Amino acid sequence: MKKQILIRFGDLVLKGKNIGFFIKAIRTHVRHALHDISVDFNHTHDRMYIIFDEKDEKEIINRLKKVPGLYSFSLIYETDNDLNSIIETAVIAANEQLKDEKTIKIETKRADKTYALTSIEITKKVAGPILSRLHRPIEVDVRHPEAVINIEIRKDVSFVFIGQVLGMGGFPYGTAGKGLVMLSGGIDSPVATYLAMKQGIQVELFHFESTPMTPLESVQKVIDLAKILATYTINGSIKLHLVPFTKIHEDLLIHVTDSYIITIMRRMMYRLAENYANAHDIKCLINGESVGQVASQTLSSISVVENVTNIPILRPVVTYDKSDIIKLAYDLNTFDISTRPFNDCCSIYVPRNPVTNPNIPFAEREEMKVDFSLIEEALIHTVTIHVTPKMNFNITDYGYRVSDAYEAYLEERRRMHD
Ligand code: ATP
Ligand code: MG
Repeated sequence: MKKQILIRFGDLVLKGKNIGFFIKAIRTHVRHALHDISVDFNHTHDRMYIIFDEKDEKEIINRLKKVPGLYSFSLIYETDNDLNSIIETAVIAANEQLKDEKTIKIETKRADKTYALTSIEITKKVAGPILSRLHRPIEVDVRHPEAVINIEIRKDVSFVFIGQVLGMGGFPYGTAGKGLVMLSGGIDSPVATYLAMKQGIQVELFHFESTPMTPLESVQKVIDLAKILATYTINGSIKLHLVPFTKIHEDLLIHVTDSYIITIMRRMMYRLAENYANAHDIKCLINGESVGQVASQTLSSISVVENVTNIPILRPVVTYDKSDIIKLAYDLNTFDISTRPFNDCCSIYVPRNPVTNPNIPFAEREEMKVDFSLIEEALIHTVTIHVTPKMNFNITDYGYRVSDAYEAYLEERRRMHD
């Protein structure tokens, strides 16, 4: 008996003529994800099989769960075509895989129609012997079984598998084009990032940092979030842009009417992000806005802010309840990072009464007091880090301000490599 993993593509099947393009993308991703594990691949038109060493089973499954576009997979037990081997293998599979299910059903399919028995005849012959050899008594329920033992008769071999593990679903990474995520250190934007990646968008991360006005720890949060998000990319690396926002921030605090500070701050953020996106052939912005959560997220605030851009803006969590976002943040392991108690620019010096119903003419009048040359300057001084899951970089070890800290880190690495 040999084990394999069978991968199904799900949603991709909807893609009709382009299916080849999507399947190629996902194969590439799976190959990258398992590049340091010794495996063999077998491809059919809508499935993929992985032949692996038993010791790697858990690790492989964990990695497959992070591949966008993977609908589901099953652990397959391969055996000979004779009934005794099939029974033997089904017993091993059931004893290994079934947890506390009380009812099962056995289902046989013949890919090889020349096999001497029909599917129903095979099921009848193997059911009794299989059931009698299980570790604990389980009943048959053909209508509503809690688990299904699948037997697939093929030309030279047979497959036995039980149930399926759901993967991420969605579409292969990058097949939807590129997006620029506005990533704060909060709970919502990392979840929004994950959802965008799941839908096949290749992302770069854009963070506005106000060090030394805000602590470098708030930037560390974003780096640590990026490490997690990088595990969903094909090459295990994600671009994190740290945009120096301090001067703009200070300028707004000095010149703009209190109640409009947040509105204008967000308009500046959108301008910066759109500018970067346009210059780098990135097709949309993505953020963690969710209608109604705070003053800046009323529909009129969103419209006054969005008014400064032309690029499409995706808000993957826009209609989510906070509790649903938090649940996802837990599953992704971002929650503990996001809730570390360090402020970024949006939560420091916030006015007591932010406007909930801003209007465009007033915002534009306020902006006459703002120095727009600071946008260009911020983009020029943006620090880009290629973050990988295993990257060992504590920016807080190197100073108080992103630019100096990153320079010091690079300098240290240069010295280490000399
Ligand atoms: P989050 O939990 O993602 O921080 P939030 O509920 O705290 O969201 P806001 O702080 O109003 O809401 O921010 C709304 C969105 O604006 C964020 O989800 C993020 O996409 C973007 N954003 C806010 N602050 C920053 C920042 N410093 N850098 C980059 N993007 C930001
Ligand atoms: Mg926030």
